[in-house]
Amino acid sequence: MTDFLIIGSGFYGSVLAERIANVLKKKVIVIDQRSHIGGNCFTDIDKKTGIEYHVYGTHIFHTSNVKVWDYINQFTDFNNYRHQVLSRHKRKIYQMPINLETINSLFKKNLNPKEASIFLKKITKTFQKKDYKNFEDKAKSQIGNKLYSAFIKNYTKKQWNKDPKYLPSSIFNRLPIRLNYNEDYYEQTQWQGIPKYGYTEIFKKLLNNKNIKLILNKKYDLNFKIKPKYLTIYTGPLDRLLNYKFGKLDWRSLKFKKKRLDINDFQGTSVINYPDLSYKFTRIHEPKHLHPERSVFKTNKTLIIEEYPSNNVNEPYYPINDKKNRELHRKYKNYLKSFTKFTFGGRLADYAYYDMDMTISAALKKFEQIKKNI
Ligand code: UDP
Repeated sequence: MTDFLIIGSGFYGSVLAERIANVLKKKVIVIDQRSHIGGNCFTDIDKKTGIEYHVYGTHIFHTSNVKVWDYINQFTDFNNYRHQVLSRHKRKIYQMPINLETINSLFKKNLNPKEASIFLKKITKTFQKKDYKNFEDKAKSQIGNKLYSAFIKNYTKKQWNKDPKYLPSSIFNRLPIRLNYNEDYYEQTQWQGIPKYGYTEIFKKLLNNKNIKLILNKKYDLNFKIKPKYLTIYTGPLDRLLNYKFGKLDWRSLKFKKKRLDINDFQGTSVINYPDLSYKFTRIHEPKHLHPERSVFKTNKTLIIEEYPSNNVNEPYYPINDKKNRELHRKYKNYLKSFTKFTFGGRLADYAYYDMDMTISAALKKFEQIKKNI
């Protein structure tokens, strides 16, 4: 008999497994339906080019949470990578998030920060409201119509397969807007970088404990044979667990197309966004730029990965956090309250747009609760 059963080996499940095995010295079984550990943070080496890539899209580790930073540094070193994003609109490359360079380039101006602030006030004046119920209203109130149409509207349409009028304004809050020339995507966060040896190595270390047994390629359902002594910790989508008894939660998913090129450098940076509708993909990733410290960086080979939005609910990435889905998720959550020796968490189970550090933080908090109750 095992003490704990954890379903899913992403950050939420793996951090809890590590804490329970190392601190509580209890036995844990971790199962995952995929053939690998790490959930969507899984990284792999492309055999033909020798370039490490993030199989489920570029993941930049960034956090201001000292507990999370101290914790994760026990399992990896980070390189000095600072994330920067560019956006290609009508054959020209602009800086993203929207900053003074983006504004000056698009409007062909040379505004300083103060002038840009006055300019933004002018171009957003007609879009001010008391309350912003949707993504488009919120975006226009912050950046006006021209910037919105160039960089945001169509990207968002492609990404979510929905008119931004029907998306929550909260998604727009993820995007900073700057009236200076700072190009650092995560300017506000204290620490950032890419794990020196990839994310998969972190998961291997987290799960490398004699108290942890890992079973891959294993699906979980409520009739699962293994019943733990203390707790089952589930990290997958709740609707799937309960056989969609109240209906299906909506998710947005992604598909990736890899291409290998015999050149040293395709785009000069790790991510370029493609907001125009003339491209079906939303971004091109060039993963070698995440590791400029590696020798493979200098070779005449590169890997590029086109990112396409998709509706595939079997590979859930982004929750559609609208009212309908939030209510449905609440229904599932309430139903699960009657389950004993059972808990859940993480991006999929919480139906939440978490970054990696938020997931780790949530797992560490959950561990404190478990520790108290055991
Ligand atoms: N977004 C956009 N244009 C861009 C980048 C982002 O309109 O060039 C919008 C889009 O709606 C996206 C949201 O901002 O879903 C959040 O973007 P972020 O880059 O944070 O998404 P993630 O990296 O998590 O996929």
